[in-house]
Amino acid sequence: MLNALNDKADIANSDLLTMLRMGVEQSFNAVIITDADLGKSGTKILYANPAFCKMTGYQANELRGLSPRILQGPLTCPNVINQLRHCLKNNQNFHGSAVNYKKDGSTYYVEWNISPVFDDTGEVSHFISIQQDVSHKIVSDNTEQILMEALNTTPDSVMITDTNGIINYVNQGFVSQTGYSYSDILGQRPSMLKSGEHQQEFYQELWDTLLKGNTFRATFLNKRKNASQYYSDQSITPIKDNIGNTTHYISVSKDLSERVRDEQAFREISKLDALTGVLIRSAGELEIEKYFMKSLHGTPFSLSMIDIDHFKSINDQWGHPTGDKILQIVAETIKSCLRLTDHVIRWGGEEFLLLFDNCDLNAANGLVERCRIAVANIDYPQIEGVTISAGVAQLHAKEDVASLIARADRALYQSKAEGRNKVSLQR
Ligand code: GH3
Ligand code: MG
Ligand code: MG
Repeated sequence: MLNALNDKADIANSDLLTMLRMGVEQSFNAVIITDADLGKSGTKILYANPAFCKMTGYQANELRGLSPRILQGPLTCPNVINQLRHCLKNNQNFHGSAVNYKKDGSTYYVEWNISPVFDDTGEVSHFISIQQDVSHKIVSDNTEQILMEALNTTPDSVMITDTNGIINYVNQGFVSQTGYSYSDILGQRPSMLKSGEHQQEFYQELWDTLLKGNTFRATFLNKRKNASQYYSDQSITPIKDNIGNTTHYISVSKDLSERVRDEQAFREISKLDALTGVLIRSAGELEIEKYFMKSLHGTPFSLSMIDIDHFKSINDQWGHPTGDKILQIVAETIKSCLRLTDHVIRWGGEEFLLLFDNCDLNAANGLVERCRIAVANIDYPQIEGVTISAGVAQLHAKEDVASLIARADRALYQSKAEGRNKVSLQR
């Protein structure tokens, strides 16, 4: 071999040997040379350079005579080792990587190649193995894999588009959120998700923000593959290359449907009186405003103020909890007599204001009369004999709401004055 390297014989053999020895000794790569005895206990290490000792934690003299198998352990891939043995047996070069074990038992990931060394007769006399610890590389490969797994594990939806708006990547969360499969969506445009509920200005603002290089955040109302709609809290961010040019956009979105539904339900519930289930006064006042606005366009609007008769004595006789029960039943009874478009408001303690949509005084009188009779006929122990009095009024032209309510109130007091369990009209 030396002859081959020294064909021109312009370097003395001793110089060449020194040069080779120093080169290997100082090499950054770990180097071992073994014998070629492939017997049961494997080849024996004849030489290990300092880089090899540093990598494995063994001293050179400890290694001498040992098989490189001491570096293998339970995590070493057996297929790689089988392949290595096959190459050695057939005098072929081997290149591979596997987990190896240091003297202290800790692991590292090594990439190595082994070449057979032939003597002058063409027989394999040794093997030379050049190795490198590539653990840092494996860690970064693993990090990439962990990141991909993390992206697919999060329930949030992730979508990456290029600058032409073509979808390059979506994660599993996107597939679950939208119902689109990977093949449905890759290569398509995010406009597939448009519900049609956002104005042009919304998208204008989105692009203005992105083109300035900023993140756009908003609640989107999007459309799934099955055409159902969902709210999502979405942020879209430009991804830039190292010279600052936008190459892609990444969109991360959280499905808010459940939260929005809960909030809507909460808002609905919070408009209702806890005891009777009818509208609380503040919510009722908003409804009055709506009916009032409609009346300006000619829709007749009537209302009725109702008060339970002698309620104080009911409380006194049966106790407050029974009084509460009676309030509940009276409210339910009144509601059951009205149309879906009418409203019942708990105006005060045992006072209710009834709103009648598109209803003149006579029709309203009919509905309230129905309530009065139904309450008087409630069939419930202790509630027998409970009655209500009512006053009804229809909004006059140019009248305001306060005046309308005051007239209904006056009609109520008329009913009280005339003996209760009565409906009076204010024309
Ligand atoms: P009238 O026929 O003149 O209306 O006599 P009334 O006894 O009903 O008199 P008034 O309307 O002034 O009294 C209302 C009573 O209703 C007073 C209050 O104790 C009672 N009340 C108000 N809110 C509640 C409630 O939430 N639960 C119960 N149990 N009682 C209530
Ligand atoms: Mg009363
Ligand atoms: Mg009262």
